[in-house]
Amino acid sequence: MNSDGTYGHWIGGRWHEPAGAHYPVVNPATEETVGRAPEAGPADVDAAVRAAREAYEGWSRTSPAERAAILERIADVLASRSADLVPLLQQETGATIRVASSMQIPTAVDRFRRYARGALEPDTIPFAPQPVRASPLAPGGLVNAAAVRRPVGVVACITSYNFPLVNLAGKVAPALAVGNTVVAKPAPQDPLTCLLLGGIMREAGLPDGVFNVITGSGAMAGEALVAHPGVDMISFTGSTAVGQAIARAAGASMKRTLMELGGKGAAIILEDAAPGVLRSAISAVGSTWAFHSGQICTAPTRVLVPRGRYEQVITALEQYARSLTVGDPVDNSTVVGPLITAGQRDRVEAYVAGAREQGARVVTGGARPDLKPGYYVAPTLLADVTPGMAVAQEEIFGPVVAALAYDSEDEAVGIANGTPYGLYDYVFGSDTARAWALAARLRSGNVGINTVQRHPETPFGGFKHSGIGRDGGSFGLHAYSELQAVVW
Ligand code: NAD
Repeated sequence: MNSDGTYGHWIGGRWHEPAGAHYPVVNPATEETVGRAPEAGPADVDAAVRAAREAYEGWSRTSPAERAAILERIADVLASRSADLVPLLQQETGATIRVASSMQIPTAVDRFRRYARGALEPDTIPFAPQPVRASPLAPGGLVNAAAVRRPVGVVACITSYNFPLVNLAGKVAPALAVGNTVVAKPAPQDPLTCLLLGGIMREAGLPDGVFNVITGSGAMAGEALVAHPGVDMISFTGSTAVGQAIARAAGASMKRTLMELGGKGAAIILEDAAPGVLRSAISAVGSTWAFHSGQICTAPTRVLVPRGRYEQVITALEQYARSLTVGDPVDNSTVVGPLITAGQRDRVEAYVAGAREQGARVVTGGARPDLKPGYYVAPTLLADVTPGMAVAQEEIFGPVVAALAYDSEDEAVGIANGTPYGLYDYVFGSDTARAWALAARLRSGNVGINTVQRHPETPFGGFKHSGIGRDGGSFGLHAYSELQAVVW
Protein backbone atom coordinates (compact mmCIF):
# COMPACT_ATOMS: atom_id res chain seq x y z
CA MET A 1 0.00 0.00 0.00
CA ASN A 2 1.28 3.48 -0.87
CA SER A 3 1.11 6.50 1.44
CA ASP A 4 -1.57 8.04 -0.84
CA GLY A 5 -4.01 5.20 -0.01
CA THR A 6 -3.41 3.36 -3.29
CA TYR A 7 -3.18 -0.42 -2.95
CA GLY A 8 -1.61 -3.04 -5.20
CA HIS A 9 -2.69 -6.62 -5.68
CA TRP A 10 -0.97 -9.05 -3.29
CA ILE A 11 0.76 -11.66 -5.45
CA GLY A 12 3.67 -13.98 -4.69
CA GLY A 13 4.31 -12.43 -1.27
CA ARG A 14 4.61 -8.80 -2.39
CA TRP A 15 2.62 -5.87 -3.66
CA HIS A 16 1.99 -6.07 -7.39
CA GLU A 17 1.15 -2.93 -9.36
CA PRO A 18 -1.94 -3.53 -11.52
CA ALA A 19 -1.58 -3.50 -15.29
CA GLY A 20 -4.55 -1.12 -15.38
CA ALA A 21 -6.08 1.54 -13.18
CA HIS A 22 -7.34 1.81 -9.60
CA TYR A 23 -10.91 2.42 -8.43
CA PRO A 24 -12.14 4.21 -5.30
CA VAL A 25 -13.45 2.28 -2.29
CA VAL A 26 -16.11 4.49 -0.73
CA ASN A 27 -17.05 4.87 2.94
CA PRO A 28 -20.85 4.33 2.95
CA ALA A 29 -21.28 6.63 5.95
CA THR A 30 -19.30 9.64 4.63
CA GLU A 31 -19.36 8.94 0.87
CA GLU A 32 -15.63 9.75 0.91
CA THR A 33 -12.90 7.64 -0.66
CA VAL A 34 -11.25 5.31 1.88
CA GLY A 35 -8.55 4.05 -0.46
CA ARG A 36 -7.97 3.06 -4.07
CA ALA A 37 -8.03 -0.65 -4.92
CA PRO A 38 -6.33 -2.14 -7.96
CA GLU A 39 -8.36 -3.06 -11.03
CA ALA A 40 -7.31 -6.57 -12.13
CA GLY A 41 -6.87 -7.30 -15.80
CA PRO A 42 -6.28 -10.76 -17.32
CA ALA A 43 -2.48 -10.45 -16.79
CA ASP A 44 -2.92 -9.77 -13.05
CA VAL A 45 -5.30 -12.71 -12.66
CA ASP A 46 -2.87 -14.93 -14.52
CA ALA A 47 0.06 -13.75 -12.35
CA ALA A 48 -1.89 -14.54 -9.17
CA VAL A 49 -2.90 -18.03 -10.35
CA ARG A 50 0.67 -18.79 -11.48
CA ALA A 51 2.02 -17.73 -8.09
CA ALA A 52 -0.49 -20.01 -6.32
CA ARG A 53 0.31 -22.86 -8.72
CA GLU A 54 4.06 -22.53 -8.17
CA ALA A 55 3.62 -22.46 -4.40
CA TYR A 56 1.31 -25.49 -4.38
CA GLU A 57 3.87 -28.29 -4.55
CA GLY A 58 5.84 -26.99 -1.57
CA TRP A 59 2.87 -26.01 0.61
CA SER A 60 0.86 -29.19 -0.01
CA ARG A 61 3.86 -31.21 1.19
CA THR A 62 4.40 -29.33 4.45
CA SER A 63 3.54 -31.28 7.58
CA PRO A 64 0.17 -30.68 9.27
CA ALA A 65 2.08 -29.46 12.34
CA GLU A 66 3.88 -26.82 10.25
CA ARG A 67 0.61 -25.61 8.72
CA ALA A 68 -1.01 -25.55 12.16
CA ALA A 69 1.82 -23.42 13.57
CA ILE A 70 1.61 -20.90 10.71
CA LEU A 71 -2.19 -20.62 10.98
CA GLU A 72 -1.85 -20.01 14.72
CA ARG A 73 0.73 -17.28 14.05
CA ILE A 74 -1.57 -15.70 11.43
CA ALA A 75 -4.23 -15.51 14.15
CA ASP A 76 -1.72 -13.88 16.53
CA VAL A 77 -0.51 -11.27 14.02
CA LEU A 78 -4.07 -10.50 12.89
CA ALA A 79 -5.20 -10.02 16.50
CA SER A 80 -2.22 -7.74 17.17
CA ARG A 81 -3.24 -5.52 14.21
CA SER A 82 -6.78 -5.06 15.43
CA ALA A 83 -6.31 -1.43 16.45
CA ASP A 84 -5.22 -0.48 12.89
CA LEU A 85 -7.61 -2.75 11.03
CA VAL A 86 -10.87 -1.99 12.85
CA PRO A 87 -11.04 1.67 11.71
CA LEU A 88 -10.28 0.66 8.11
CA LEU A 89 -12.85 -2.13 8.23
CA GLN A 90 -15.37 0.25 9.64
CA GLN A 91 -14.70 2.79 6.93
CA GLU A 92 -14.98 0.35 4.04
CA THR A 93 -17.97 -1.64 5.36
CA GLY A 94 -19.98 1.00 7.25
CA ALA A 95 -20.21 -1.42 10.21
CA THR A 96 -20.98 0.06 13.61
CA ILE A 97 -18.20 0.19 16.22
CA ARG A 98 -19.79 -2.70 18.11
CA VAL A 99 -19.94 -4.94 15.04
CA ALA A 100 -16.52 -3.95 13.67
CA SER A 101 -14.62 -4.32 16.94
CA SER A 102 -16.44 -7.26 18.54
CA MET A 103 -16.96 -9.39 15.44
CA GLN A 104 -15.13 -8.39 12.28
CA ILE A 105 -11.60 -9.08 13.60
CA PRO A 106 -12.22 -11.47 16.55
CA THR A 107 -14.29 -13.87 14.44
CA ALA A 108 -11.66 -13.89 11.70
CA VAL A 109 -8.98 -14.59 14.34
CA ASP A 110 -11.09 -17.42 15.78
CA ARG A 111 -11.37 -18.97 12.34
CA PHE A 112 -7.59 -19.07 11.84
CA ARG A 113 -7.19 -20.62 15.31
CA ARG A 114 -9.92 -23.17 14.62
CA TYR A 115 -8.22 -24.37 11.46
CA ALA A 116 -4.79 -24.38 13.09
CA ARG A 117 -6.35 -27.18 15.14
CA GLY A 118 -8.06 -28.40 11.97
CA ALA A 119 -4.73 -28.99 10.24
CA LEU A 120 -4.06 -31.63 12.91
CA GLU A 121 -7.38 -33.47 12.55
CA PRO A 122 -7.08 -37.05 11.22
CA ASP A 123 -7.07 -37.08 7.42
CA THR A 124 -7.16 -40.88 6.97
CA ILE A 125 -10.18 -43.17 7.28
CA PRO A 126 -9.02 -46.81 7.53
CA PHE A 127 -11.22 -49.71 6.40
CA ALA A 128 -11.31 -53.17 7.94
CA PRO A 129 -9.43 -55.76 5.86
CA GLN A 130 -11.82 -57.32 3.37
CA PRO A 131 -11.56 -60.90 2.00
CA VAL A 132 -11.94 -60.57 -1.77
CA ARG A 133 -12.40 -63.53 -4.13
CA ALA A 134 -9.98 -64.21 -6.97
CA SER A 135 -11.22 -62.79 -10.29
CA PRO A 136 -9.92 -62.36 -13.84
CA LEU A 137 -8.70 -58.96 -12.61
CA ALA A 138 -6.47 -60.08 -9.75
CA PRO A 139 -5.73 -62.93 -7.32
CA GLY A 140 -7.92 -63.21 -4.23
CA GLY A 141 -6.77 -62.21 -0.76
CA LEU A 142 -7.26 -60.07 2.26
CA VAL A 143 -7.35 -56.54 0.88
CA ASN A 144 -6.67 -53.37 2.93
CA ALA A 145 -7.69 -49.83 2.11
CA ALA A 146 -7.95 -46.29 3.45
CA ALA A 147 -9.57 -43.08 2.29
CA VAL A 148 -7.24 -40.12 2.62
CA ARG A 149 -8.01 -36.43 2.32
CA ARG A 150 -5.80 -34.64 -0.19
CA PRO A 151 -5.80 -30.92 -1.03
CA VAL A 152 -7.81 -29.91 -4.11
CA GLY A 153 -5.07 -27.63 -5.48
CA VAL A 154 -5.41 -23.92 -6.24
CA VAL A 155 -8.60 -22.55 -4.72
CA ALA A 156 -10.14 -19.27 -5.90
CA CYS A 157 -12.04 -17.68 -3.01
CA ILE A 158 -14.56 -15.15 -4.33
CA THR A 159 -16.45 -13.35 -1.57
CA SER A 160 -19.32 -10.95 -0.97
CA TYR A 161 -19.32 -7.67 0.90
CA ASN A 162 -20.46 -7.31 4.55
CA PHE A 163 -17.89 -9.18 6.70
CA PRO A 164 -14.90 -9.18 4.34
CA LEU A 165 -12.23 -10.65 6.62
CA VAL A 166 -14.57 -13.07 8.37
CA ASN A 167 -15.92 -14.41 5.06
CA LEU A 168 -12.46 -14.76 3.63
CA ALA A 169 -11.00 -16.35 6.77
CA GLY A 170 -13.82 -18.93 6.70
CA LYS A 171 -12.54 -20.06 3.30
CA VAL A 172 -8.79 -19.43 3.43
CA ALA A 173 -8.12 -20.95 6.86
CA PRO A 174 -9.57 -24.43 6.11
CA ALA A 175 -8.19 -24.33 2.55
CA LEU A 176 -4.65 -23.67 3.82
CA ALA A 177 -5.02 -26.14 6.70
CA VAL A 178 -5.55 -28.96 4.21
CA GLY A 179 -2.63 -27.86 1.99
CA ASN A 180 -4.28 -25.87 -0.80
CA THR A 181 -2.98 -22.56 -2.10
CA VAL A 182 -5.35 -19.63 -2.62
CA VAL A 183 -6.18 -16.72 -4.87
CA ALA A 184 -8.69 -14.47 -3.09
CA LYS A 185 -11.00 -12.08 -4.90
CA PRO A 186 -12.85 -10.05 -2.26
CA ALA A 187 -15.93 -7.98 -3.04
CA PRO A 188 -15.32 -4.70 -4.88
CA GLN A 189 -17.02 -2.67 -2.13
CA ASP A 190 -14.81 -3.58 0.87
CA PRO A 191 -11.55 -5.23 -0.28
CA LEU A 192 -8.88 -3.18 1.54
CA THR A 193 -8.41 -5.17 4.76
CA CYS A 194 -8.38 -8.35 2.66
CA LEU A 195 -5.48 -6.89 0.67
CA LEU A 196 -3.65 -6.19 3.95
CA LEU A 197 -4.15 -9.80 5.02
CA GLY A 198 -1.39 -10.76 2.55
CA GLY A 199 1.31 -8.92 4.52
CA ILE A 200 -0.05 -10.28 7.80
CA MET A 201 0.23 -13.84 6.52
CA ARG A 202 3.76 -13.23 5.23
CA GLU A 203 4.81 -11.85 8.60
CA ALA A 204 3.36 -14.98 10.21
CA GLY A 205 5.64 -17.10 8.06
CA LEU A 206 3.34 -18.21 5.22
CA PRO A 207 5.53 -18.96 2.19
CA ASP A 208 5.22 -16.55 -0.74
CA GLY A 209 2.55 -17.41 -3.29
CA VAL A 210 0.46 -19.57 -0.95
CA PHE A 211 -2.04 -16.72 -0.47
CA ASN A 212 -2.68 -14.07 -3.14
CA VAL A 213 -5.30 -11.32 -3.41
CA ILE A 214 -6.59 -9.57 -6.51
CA THR A 215 -9.41 -7.03 -6.71
CA GLY A 216 -11.56 -5.33 -9.31
CA SER A 217 -14.61 -3.08 -9.46
CA GLY A 218 -16.67 -5.28 -11.77
CA ALA A 219 -17.24 -8.93 -12.63
CA MET A 220 -14.14 -9.31 -14.81
CA ALA A 221 -11.60 -10.40 -12.18
CA GLY A 222 -13.94 -13.08 -10.82
CA GLU A 223 -14.90 -14.28 -14.29
CA ALA A 224 -11.24 -14.57 -15.32
CA LEU A 225 -10.46 -16.58 -12.17
CA VAL A 226 -13.36 -18.96 -12.78
CA ALA A 227 -12.24 -19.48 -16.38
CA HIS A 228 -8.53 -19.89 -15.57
CA PRO A 229 -7.26 -23.44 -16.26
CA GLY A 230 -4.82 -23.15 -13.33
CA VAL A 231 -7.65 -22.95 -10.79
CA ASP A 232 -8.99 -26.25 -9.39
CA MET A 233 -11.81 -25.07 -7.14
CA ILE A 234 -14.08 -22.06 -6.76
CA SER A 235 -15.26 -21.25 -3.26
CA PHE A 236 -17.92 -18.60 -3.70
CA THR A 237 -19.98 -16.51 -1.31
CA GLY A 238 -22.45 -14.14 -2.91
CA SER A 239 -25.77 -13.85 -4.67
CA THR A 240 -27.60 -16.79 -6.19
CA ALA A 241 -27.59 -15.16 -9.65
CA VAL A 242 -23.79 -14.84 -9.69
CA GLY A 243 -23.44 -18.31 -8.14
CA GLN A 244 -25.45 -19.76 -11.01
CA ALA A 245 -23.23 -18.00 -13.58
CA ILE A 246 -20.11 -19.30 -11.82
CA ALA A 247 -21.47 -22.85 -11.58
CA ARG A 248 -22.18 -22.84 -15.33
CA ALA A 249 -18.68 -21.58 -16.17
CA ALA A 250 -16.95 -23.85 -13.64
CA GLY A 251 -18.74 -26.88 -15.04
CA ALA A 252 -17.00 -26.43 -18.39
CA SER A 253 -13.63 -27.28 -16.82
CA MET A 254 -15.07 -29.50 -14.05
CA LYS A 255 -13.81 -27.25 -11.25
CA ARG A 256 -14.98 -28.13 -7.77
CA THR A 257 -17.39 -25.56 -6.36
CA LEU A 258 -18.55 -24.54 -2.90
CA MET A 259 -21.51 -22.20 -3.14
CA GLU A 260 -22.67 -20.06 -0.20
CA LEU A 261 -25.52 -18.08 -1.71
CA GLY A 262 -28.49 -15.92 -0.79
CA GLY A 263 -31.19 -16.49 1.79
CA LYS A 264 -34.74 -15.48 2.72
CA GLY A 265 -34.92 -16.73 6.29
CA ALA A 266 -38.27 -17.42 7.94
CA ALA A 267 -38.81 -17.08 11.69
CA ILE A 268 -41.88 -19.14 12.59
CA ILE A 269 -43.44 -18.08 15.88
CA LEU A 270 -45.52 -20.96 17.23
CA GLU A 271 -48.87 -20.62 18.96
CA ASP A 272 -47.40 -21.92 22.25
CA ALA A 273 -44.63 -19.28 22.49
CA ALA A 274 -44.64 -18.09 26.12
CA PRO A 275 -43.83 -14.41 26.85
CA GLY A 276 -40.08 -15.08 27.35
CA VAL A 277 -39.85 -17.00 24.07
CA LEU A 278 -41.80 -14.26 22.30
CA ARG A 279 -39.32 -11.65 23.60
CA SER A 280 -36.46 -13.78 22.19
CA ALA A 281 -38.31 -13.98 18.89
CA ILE A 282 -38.78 -10.20 18.71
CA SER A 283 -35.08 -9.46 19.31
CA ALA A 284 -34.08 -12.27 16.92
CA VAL A 285 -36.26 -10.89 14.13
CA GLY A 286 -35.06 -7.42 15.14
CA SER A 287 -31.51 -8.50 14.26
CA THR A 288 -32.58 -7.99 10.65
CA TRP A 289 -32.51 -4.28 11.51
CA ALA A 290 -29.93 -4.18 14.28
CA PHE A 291 -27.18 -6.43 12.91
CA HIS A 292 -25.22 -4.82 10.07
CA SER A 293 -28.40 -3.18 8.75
CA GLY A 294 -29.79 -6.50 7.57
CA GLN A 295 -26.97 -7.10 5.08
CA ILE A 296 -26.77 -10.66 6.38
CA CYS A 297 -27.59 -13.79 4.35
CA THR A 298 -28.94 -15.67 7.41
CA ALA A 299 -31.22 -12.88 8.69
CA PRO A 300 -34.79 -13.86 9.69
CA THR A 301 -36.30 -11.41 7.21
CA ARG A 302 -39.76 -13.03 7.19
CA VAL A 303 -41.66 -13.45 10.43
CA LEU A 304 -44.54 -15.96 10.32
CA VAL A 305 -47.10 -15.39 13.07
CA PRO A 306 -50.27 -17.27 14.14
CA ARG A 307 -53.16 -15.07 13.01
CA GLY A 308 -54.50 -14.73 16.56
CA ARG A 309 -51.22 -13.22 17.79
CA TYR A 310 -50.43 -11.18 14.68
CA GLU A 311 -51.19 -7.65 15.94
CA GLN A 312 -49.49 -8.35 19.29
CA VAL A 313 -46.30 -9.33 17.45
CA ILE A 314 -46.53 -6.41 15.02
CA THR A 315 -46.80 -3.97 17.94
CA ALA A 316 -43.81 -5.51 19.73
CA LEU A 317 -41.72 -5.46 16.54
CA GLU A 318 -42.72 -1.87 15.83
CA GLN A 319 -41.58 -0.80 19.29
CA TYR A 320 -38.32 -2.66 18.84
CA ALA A 321 -37.62 -1.07 15.43
CA ARG A 322 -38.40 2.42 16.70
CA SER A 323 -35.98 1.98 19.62
CA LEU A 324 -32.98 1.51 17.30
CA THR A 325 -30.74 4.52 16.65
CA VAL A 326 -29.91 4.99 12.99
CA GLY A 327 -26.82 7.02 12.20
CA ASP A 328 -23.10 7.41 11.87
CA PRO A 329 -21.49 4.03 12.61
CA VAL A 330 -18.59 5.67 14.48
CA ASP A 331 -21.05 7.04 17.05
CA ASN A 332 -21.22 4.63 20.00
CA SER A 333 -25.00 4.90 20.29
CA THR A 334 -25.63 3.87 16.68
CA VAL A 335 -27.22 0.48 16.11
CA VAL A 336 -28.23 0.79 12.44
CA GLY A 337 -25.53 2.09 10.14
CA PRO A 338 -25.65 2.71 6.39
CA LEU A 339 -26.06 0.23 3.56
CA ILE A 340 -22.98 -0.49 1.51
CA THR A 341 -23.73 1.69 -1.56
CA ALA A 342 -26.25 4.18 -2.92
CA GLY A 343 -27.30 1.48 -5.39
CA GLN A 344 -28.10 -0.97 -2.60
CA ARG A 345 -30.08 1.69 -0.72
CA ASP A 346 -32.09 2.43 -3.90
CA ARG A 347 -32.73 -1.27 -4.41
CA VAL A 348 -34.05 -1.68 -0.86
CA GLU A 349 -36.24 1.40 -1.20
CA ALA A 350 -37.67 0.03 -4.47
CA TYR A 351 -38.69 -3.21 -2.69
CA VAL A 352 -40.50 -1.24 0.01
CA ALA A 353 -42.27 0.94 -2.60
CA GLY A 354 -43.28 -2.20 -4.51
CA ALA A 355 -44.68 -3.83 -1.37
CA ARG A 356 -46.68 -0.70 -0.57
CA GLU A 357 -48.17 -0.73 -4.08
CA GLN A 358 -49.09 -4.41 -3.69
CA GLY A 359 -51.03 -3.68 -0.51
CA ALA A 360 -48.52 -4.24 2.30
CA ARG A 361 -48.80 -1.97 5.34
CA VAL A 362 -45.66 0.01 6.18
CA VAL A 363 -45.83 -0.10 9.98
CA THR A 364 -42.59 1.77 10.57
CA GLY A 365 -39.70 3.00 8.42
CA GLY A 366 -40.17 3.10 4.69
CA ALA A 367 -38.89 6.68 4.36
CA ARG A 368 -35.27 7.73 3.87
CA PRO A 369 -33.86 9.04 7.18
CA ASP A 370 -32.87 12.68 7.24
CA LEU A 371 -29.14 11.91 7.42
CA LYS A 372 -26.55 13.22 4.99
CA PRO A 373 -24.11 12.07 3.83
CA GLY A 374 -24.49 8.27 3.89
CA TYR A 375 -26.63 5.52 2.41
CA TYR A 376 -29.13 5.06 5.24
CA VAL A 377 -32.41 3.13 5.29
CA ALA A 378 -34.64 3.25 8.37
CA PRO A 379 -35.60 -0.07 10.03
CA THR A 380 -38.72 -1.00 8.10
CA LEU A 381 -41.55 -3.32 9.14
CA LEU A 382 -44.02 -4.47 6.49
CA ALA A 383 -47.27 -6.04 7.70
CA ASP A 384 -50.10 -7.73 5.78
CA VAL A 385 -47.53 -9.26 3.47
CA THR A 386 -48.74 -12.24 1.44
CA PRO A 387 -46.47 -15.10 0.34
CA GLY A 388 -46.48 -14.16 -3.35
CA MET A 389 -45.24 -10.59 -2.90
CA ALA A 390 -41.69 -9.83 -4.06
CA VAL A 391 -40.72 -8.81 -0.50
CA ALA A 392 -41.75 -12.29 0.68
CA GLN A 393 -39.94 -14.11 -2.13
CA GLU A 394 -36.74 -12.22 -2.95
CA GLU A 395 -33.66 -11.42 -0.92
CA ILE A 396 -33.61 -7.70 -0.05
CA PHE A 397 -30.32 -7.53 1.95
CA GLY A 398 -31.31 -4.53 4.02
CA PRO A 399 -33.16 -3.61 7.24
CA VAL A 400 -36.61 -4.77 6.10
CA VAL A 401 -38.83 -7.34 7.84
CA ALA A 402 -41.93 -8.81 6.18
CA ALA A 403 -44.61 -10.12 8.57
CA LEU A 404 -47.01 -12.82 7.35
CA ALA A 405 -49.97 -14.35 9.20
CA TYR A 406 -50.71 -18.10 9.16
CA ASP A 407 -53.64 -20.24 10.27
CA SER A 408 -52.05 -23.67 10.72
CA GLU A 409 -48.61 -25.17 11.22
CA ASP A 410 -48.90 -26.81 7.78
CA GLU A 411 -49.49 -23.40 6.24
CA ALA A 412 -46.50 -21.94 8.11
CA VAL A 413 -44.26 -24.73 6.76
CA GLY A 414 -45.61 -24.11 3.25
CA ILE A 415 -44.84 -20.39 3.47
CA ALA A 416 -41.39 -20.95 4.97
CA ASN A 417 -40.50 -23.43 2.22
CA GLY A 418 -42.23 -21.41 -0.49
CA THR A 419 -39.23 -19.45 -1.81
CA PRO A 420 -36.32 -20.61 -3.96
CA TYR A 421 -34.01 -20.20 -0.95
CA GLY A 422 -33.21 -22.50 1.97
CA LEU A 423 -30.33 -21.10 4.01
CA TYR A 424 -31.48 -20.41 7.58
CA ASP A 425 -34.90 -20.69 9.21
CA TYR A 426 -35.90 -20.25 12.85
CA VAL A 427 -38.63 -21.67 15.08
CA PHE A 428 -39.75 -19.94 18.29
CA GLY A 429 -41.94 -21.96 20.64
CA SER A 430 -42.08 -23.15 24.24
CA ASP A 431 -42.13 -26.86 23.38
CA THR A 432 -38.69 -27.49 21.90
CA ALA A 433 -39.61 -31.08 20.98
CA ARG A 434 -42.36 -29.66 18.77
CA ALA A 435 -39.91 -27.14 17.29
CA TRP A 436 -37.42 -29.99 16.64
CA ALA A 437 -40.12 -31.94 14.78
CA LEU A 438 -40.99 -28.84 12.76
CA ALA A 439 -37.32 -28.36 11.80
CA ALA A 440 -37.46 -31.70 9.96
CA ARG A 441 -40.09 -30.22 7.63
CA LEU A 442 -38.08 -27.10 6.77
CA ARG A 443 -36.11 -27.25 3.53
CA SER A 444 -33.28 -25.23 4.99
CA GLY A 445 -29.60 -25.90 5.64
CA ASN A 446 -29.79 -24.45 9.15
CA VAL A 447 -32.59 -24.15 11.71
CA GLY A 448 -32.35 -22.09 14.89
CA ILE A 449 -34.69 -23.01 17.75
CA ASN A 450 -35.42 -20.01 19.97
CA THR A 451 -32.10 -18.41 19.02
CA VAL A 452 -30.21 -16.72 16.20
CA GLN A 453 -26.92 -17.68 17.87
CA ARG A 454 -24.53 -19.86 15.85
CA HIS A 455 -22.61 -22.97 16.82
CA PRO A 456 -19.17 -22.77 15.18
CA GLU A 457 -18.80 -26.53 14.66
CA THR A 458 -22.00 -27.10 12.67
CA PRO A 459 -22.05 -27.58 8.91
CA PHE A 460 -22.99 -24.31 7.25
CA GLY A 461 -24.64 -24.09 3.84
CA GLY A 462 -27.92 -23.97 2.02
CA PHE A 463 -30.63 -26.14 0.51
CA LYS A 464 -32.11 -25.29 -2.91
CA HIS A 465 -30.90 -21.99 -4.41
CA SER A 466 -29.00 -21.07 -1.25
CA GLY A 467 -25.99 -23.08 -2.24
CA ILE A 468 -24.12 -26.32 -2.72
CA GLY A 469 -21.75 -27.88 -0.16
CA ARG A 470 -20.98 -27.16 3.47
CA ASP A 471 -18.21 -25.53 5.44
CA GLY A 472 -17.86 -24.74 9.15
CA GLY A 473 -15.96 -26.80 11.76
CA SER A 474 -14.51 -30.02 10.37
CA PHE A 475 -16.90 -29.76 7.41
CA GLY A 476 -14.66 -26.91 6.17
CA LEU A 477 -11.76 -29.35 5.98
CA HIS A 478 -13.88 -31.76 3.95
CA ALA A 479 -14.98 -28.97 1.60
CA TYR A 480 -11.40 -28.14 0.60
CA SER A 481 -10.16 -31.70 0.13
CA GLU A 482 -10.52 -34.54 -2.36
CA LEU A 483 -10.91 -38.08 -1.06
CA GLN A 484 -8.30 -40.48 -2.39
CA ALA A 485 -8.81 -44.21 -1.92
CA VAL A 486 -5.59 -46.15 -1.36
CA VAL A 487 -5.79 -49.97 -1.60
CA TRP A 488 -3.10 -52.51 -0.76
P1 NAD B 1 -22.50 -10.67 -5.58
O1 NAD B 1 -22.97 -12.02 -6.01
O2 NAD B 1 -22.93 -9.49 -6.35
O3 NAD B 1 -20.88 -10.64 -5.59
C1 NAD B 1 -20.14 -11.58 -4.86
C2 NAD B 1 -18.74 -11.68 -5.45
O4 NAD B 1 -18.79 -12.21 -6.78
C3 NAD B 1 -18.01 -10.35 -5.57
O5 NAD B 1 -16.66 -10.54 -5.23
C4 NAD B 1 -18.18 -10.02 -7.03
O6 NAD B 1 -17.19 -9.13 -7.54
C5 NAD B 1 -18.04 -11.39 -7.67
N1 NAD B 1 -18.64 -11.55 -9.00
C6 NAD B 1 -19.65 -10.84 -9.56
N2 NAD B 1 -19.94 -11.34 -10.80
C7 NAD B 1 -19.09 -12.38 -11.00
C8 NAD B 1 -18.92 -13.32 -12.06
N3 NAD B 1 -19.67 -13.28 -13.17
N4 NAD B 1 -17.97 -14.26 -11.94
C9 NAD B 1 -17.21 -14.35 -10.83
N5 NAD B 1 -17.32 -13.49 -9.78
C10 NAD B 1 -18.27 -12.53 -9.87
O7 NAD B 1 -22.90 -10.57 -4.05
P2 NAD B 1 -22.77 -9.28 -3.06
O8 NAD B 1 -23.74 -8.26 -3.50
O9 NAD B 1 -21.35 -8.92 -2.87
O10 NAD B 1 -23.22 -9.93 -1.68
C11 NAD B 1 -24.54 -10.12 -1.29
C12 NAD B 1 -24.96 -11.55 -1.52
O11 NAD B 1 -24.07 -12.44 -0.86
C13 NAD B 1 -26.33 -11.84 -0.95
O12 NAD B 1 -27.05 -12.61 -1.87
C14 NAD B 1 -26.03 -12.64 0.30
O13 NAD B 1 -27.06 -13.49 0.71
C15 NAD B 1 -24.83 -13.40 -0.13
N6 NAD B 1 -24.08 -13.89 1.03
C16 NAD B 1 -24.16 -15.21 1.31
C17 NAD B 1 -23.50 -15.72 2.43
C18 NAD B 1 -23.55 -17.19 2.73
O14 NAD B 1 -22.69 -17.65 3.48
N7 NAD B 1 -24.50 -17.96 2.22
C19 NAD B 1 -22.76 -14.86 3.24
C20 NAD B 1 -22.71 -13.50 2.92
C21 NAD B 1 -23.38 -13.04 1.80
